[in-house]
Amino acid sequence: MDETTPQPLILPKVTVPEHPPIQELSGEEEKALKNHIKELLHQQNAALVAHYYTDGKIQDLAEETGGCVADSLEMARFGMEHEARTLVVAGVRFMGETSKILNNEKRVLMPDLAATCSLDDCCPIDLFSDFCDQYPNHKVVVYANTSARVKARSDWVVTSGIALAIVKHLAENGEKIIWAPDRHLGQYIQNQTGIEMIIWPGSCVVHEEFRAVALQRIRRLHPAAAVLVHPESPQDVICQADVVGSTTALIKAVASMPNMEFIIATDAGIFNKMRQIAPGKTLIEAPTMGDGATCQSCAHCPWMEMNSLQKVAEVLETGQNEILVDAELAAKASIPIRRMIDFSRGIRL
Ligand code: SF4
Repeated sequence: MDETTPQPLILPKVTVPEHPPIQELSGEEEKALKNHIKELLHQQNAALVAHYYTDGKIQDLAEETGGCVADSLEMARFGMEHEARTLVVAGVRFMGETSKILNNEKRVLMPDLAATCSLDDCCPIDLFSDFCDQYPNHKVVVYANTSARVKARSDWVVTSGIALAIVKHLAENGEKIIWAPDRHLGQYIQNQTGIEMIIWPGSCVVHEEFRAVALQRIRRLHPAAAVLVHPESPQDVICQADVVGSTTALIKAVASMPNMEFIIATDAGIFNKMRQIAPGKTLIEAPTMGDGATCQSCAHCPWMEMNSLQKVAEVLETGQNEILVDAELAAKASIPIRRMIDFSRGIRL
């Protein structure tokens, strides 16, 4: 097909799921449940791997039990390097899939298989593959927040922490790029590097809701606060940031910057780790309300919220919610993921 006449794209509508609220536990009940999970993890040679956006109680337990709390790249790396035979991945579906793809011999369980991601949902493989076919001379770069099939169709998988470096690397080697699925992150990379990309028009329902005008107002109330923004946010929000970066970069910023107040535009689950490493600092949620806001998520990912201590215990008791990825598909999908991991090791060296 002629590269100059791309077909119009109509993305599937992503609906934020209704799900029953997680039952609150008393202090005693929570302690007993945590002890029960610790025993199960020990008995089953299992490790709990949690994302920064999950409930703080899950994050704390992951650390207490020798598991990890991290962004999606570090979660994947941890699973590869740890000796556990079972990984309980508290996060969203693509994170469990990525763990399974990289650790085929391990059992990967997830607290809730319905926990997905709007970026993953708005990039179905058939539509995406047809889209890529329109640009045969382009390298396909996809964000980690995609299904195993979309990863298998790509040349590179990236996370927000490494996306800029990989896009620059490709452009320096004369490659043309298709970027998917987050349009805001794609636009941010274009703005930072001046590298033109073909961008899939998906978005994260959480970050898309941050509002620039409301952010200006709150900044006037806290003039000494530093503004930290995740690059899945709209450009007019990113423009106001003192620091734009991945979850890990934003956590480091809270620890290292001299400011005592921070306004933070990302999922508020991250506050748990920020409070741990910078206990004296004040953290303020960037506003999601304001002109044109719908506040479907109000800065809390509805899919991350589906994870709970109760569900972690349940999957360890029953062995349910195992992530299975077809071996041939896993082999294909692992190539662009390993490419990213190898690239990131080079940067770390
Ligand atoms: S916060 Fe956004 S990108 Fe992250 S899992 Fe939720 S919907 Fe996906």
